[in-house]
Amino acid sequence: MSSKQDIRALSLEDLKSFFTEHNLQAFRAKQVYQWLWQKGAHNFSEMTNLSKEVRSLLEETFSINHIAIDQQQRSTDGTIKNAVKLHDNLVVESVLIPTASRTTACVSSQVGCSLDCTFCATAQLKRMRNLNPDEIYDQVVAIDRQSQLYFHRPLSNIVFMGMGEPLMNYKNVLAAIEKITSADALGMSPKRITLSTSGIPKMIQKLADEQVKFQLAVSLHSARQQVREQIMPFAENFPLESLLEALQYWYQKTKKRITFEYVIWKGVNDTPEDIQALVRFCKQVPSKVNLIQYNSIGDPKFQQAPEHSIQAYVEALEAASIVVTIRRSRGEDIDAACGQLANKTLQ
Ligand code: SAH
Repeated sequence: MSSKQDIRALSLEDLKSFFTEHNLQAFRAKQVYQWLWQKGAHNFSEMTNLSKEVRSLLEETFSINHIAIDQQQRSTDGTIKNAVKLHDNLVVESVLIPTASRTTACVSSQVGCSLDCTFCATAQLKRMRNLNPDEIYDQVVAIDRQSQLYFHRPLSNIVFMGMGEPLMNYKNVLAAIEKITSADALGMSPKRITLSTSGIPKMIQKLADEQVKFQLAVSLHSARQQVREQIMPFAENFPLESLLEALQYWYQKTKKRITFEYVIWKGVNDTPEDIQALVRFCKQVPSKVNLIQYNSIGDPKFQQAPEHSIQAYVEALEAASIVVTIRRSRGEDIDAACGQLANKTLQ
């Protein structure tokens, strides 16, 4: 690990100040910025439109930290799971999920996770640190390259559904999205980006205030406070009423419908009472429900509910005119499915 400052932690404005402080032309900052964010330079020597002197000055002052794909596993369904090594040797995972018409990147926002959902493999890891904006951005670039290489098309969608809780790394996640969507860097449409959160009301309000343009998904899993606290203990501090208020505020500000992610487990949230609670919750804010298949992490307490339980949910939601979709797992054979990201191969 280098003791020099990572140049990609600097904004364009910071870079400009650096150049003026050294009596150099400020427009050079923009050139450097393009090398770093558009052309993906790994070394200052690649920056051929700068003088040798300027390149040496940058070299003496800064490092360019980059992620490295340490290991790649490919599923029989086309899904690719990448173990991504960071500059300090910590590892996160990023997944490429192909369908007939799309390539989706599922990216991580933290090493480990700050939260404690009892059904999730990532939660069993200790949260080590937040990812920097460039570490999030690099995962997207790496998956875009894989999409070009293996599927001959660019990346089309991004979901923040890898390791970590994005709203517990708010500033860096937003800075990464800014880079991903900015014309000076990747230029992707924010409509194709979904941030998934376990539901942190204050942070959802903050997002709404900033009028962000990306989509929001919330891992709800239960609309009954008591049940939710059992499976997502942190929810004790973030009651469903505050979550609902924050989501209503989000809709008021952004006019964007929320997606609720929801797993149905046998004996946990499969009763008519659970179903009615979800219907009531959804009726209070424009939303749709995505029923996710459970991917076992080996705990017998959690078992995917049978088809008839899923159908009971679907019928009740549809009867209340709430849109409901069912998401089947991808990449299960390589532990790349939701909730299975835990650096298994590296332990
Ligand atoms: N912390 C954020 C981002 C992670 S997204 C969030 O909770 O939304 C990962 C998604 O997979 C979440 O909806 C999570 O609840 C779900 N999940 C976790 N463990 C799972 C498992 N074993 N099977 C299926 N889905 C799971």
